[in-house]
Amino acid sequence: MRAMVQTDFGGPEVVSLQHVSEPICGPRDVVVKVEYCGLNRLDLLQRKGPGLIPGFRLPHVPGMDLAGVVVATGPAVTSVVPGDRVIADPTQGCGTCSRCAVGDRAYCVSPRILGGNIAGALAEYVVASAESIVRVPESMRLAAAVTLPTAFATAWHSVHAVGSLAAGETFVVHAAASSVSLASIALAKRAGASVIACAGSDEKLAAASAAGADLVLLNDDPELAKTVLSFTGGAGADLVLDHVGTDTWRASLDCLGIRGRLVLLGNTSGDQVSFSLMEVFHRGLKLLGAGGYTSTDFVAATSACFADGLHLPTAECLPLSGLAGAWDVLADRRTIGKVVIEP
Ligand SMILES: [Zn+2]
Repeated sequence: MRAMVQTDFGGPEVVSLQHVSEPICGPRDVVVKVEYCGLNRLDLLQRKGPGLIPGFRLPHVPGMDLAGVVVATGPAVTSVVPGDRVIADPTQGCGTCSRCAVGDRAYCVSPRILGGNIAGALAEYVVASAESIVRVPESMRLAAAVTLPTAFATAWHSVHAVGSLAAGETFVVHAAASSVSLASIALAKRAGASVIACAGSDEKLAAASAAGADLVLLNDDPELAKTVLSFTGGAGADLVLDHVGTDTWRASLDCLGIRGRLVLLGNTSGDQVSFSLMEVFHRGLKLLGAGGYTSTDFVAATSACFADGLHLPTAECLPLSGLAGAWDVLADRRTIGKVVIEP
């Protein structure tokens, strides 16, 4: 079969179209003909090197998010049949350790990540464990479904499982045009919350508004926290989602109301901050590390998206041979939405 194979670390030239063996279907596995593969920043980082996921080895087939059609199933598989339209949770797990037993595949003792440390979906076919597979209803196009897996599962975990967002609460999110943030905006609106989205350009704020944000603010606005307080009648936000880190930390704390929750799930601007312990305990703030999403989150997130037709915008959709150009789109932080490859 055709696959994009990474043979070294470096520029786009280290990933090339090659003919490789078709994947072997284990007893609990499913082989999927890939219709669409959504790129993630990890694909770009691991191409530049070094490999970030433990167990990463060259040669490597990237591609974590996939949507396609089941073509073969192992003898122990009863949940899907050939012809089913599906997406997969890229976090596969070993299936036998104590973390996998409770659906916490992100903390598996020997994690297997599609496109992370095992063959991914920039290929004609990919093999995945049946338990990681979710069927896509006829109401959703596969081109839309491919935008769901990592972004919506991560957002669901942060907003619901960790952040416990409730109807009527106020939710603030930074870097609002990122995939996880756009997904969180959609899920927070679905949950009945008011949403304030912060980003660095008018174009990104427009994307946040399109995703459902009630109020959008430029993140270099010195009055940002004051505006959030004003919007909430002086109460402050109930939940802030921050994956920016150092640059937004102060604003995140200042936006929060009494007993507000701050969910931390990334640090693209740095991981060093300082703050007053007294401020945190006196105001009853809850600082929560998100960690990885669970299989329960994955199923809940994708079910919600299927029911309500939620998905991310597609920034670009290119054929497998167009991957070299796709890296540039992915690297451009002005890009809004998913970069999708059609093998
Ligand atoms: Zn495991």
